Amino acid sequence: MDHAPEQTAGLPNLGDLCRKAIFPGQAAYGQVRDSSYDDPVDPAQDGNRLVIACSAEHLGELQQHYRQRPFNREELWTRKIDRAMRQHPEGLGLEQLEKESGLNALQIEAATTWQLQSDRARGGGSADSQ
Ligand SMILES: [Zn+2]
Repeated sequence: MDHAPEQTAGLPNLGDLCRKAIFPGQAAYGQVRDSSYDDPVDPAQDGNRLVIACSAEHLGELQQHYRQRPFNREELWTRKIDRAMRQHPEGLGLEQLEKESGLNALQIEAATTWQLQSDRARGGGSADSQ
């Protein structure tokens, strides 16, 4: 852990929950499982979101929030595919996509299906689940 965010000159961190400025030394860090999170630098950290809070109390609320959010493998795979595609705007064949995303063909297919369904659900008006 040598990439602590303290270095940002003069800019205080903001709590992920309340958006209040956090004074140095007061921050509470935690890791939560979040299938909508893809790590910008380390694919091994996909799904593990680092959260920062102004207090242990708010950290607890954040962790509670993410615990209640369903962790969806297909969603996480979709993020991995999205990242690979962003890095290769010229397009990727299936084999290259497997290599870049670290997924196999079945996972890619499952993620694509999931994405289509959730796009359809989003386009279909109200969020009433069936
Ligand atoms: Zn807070």
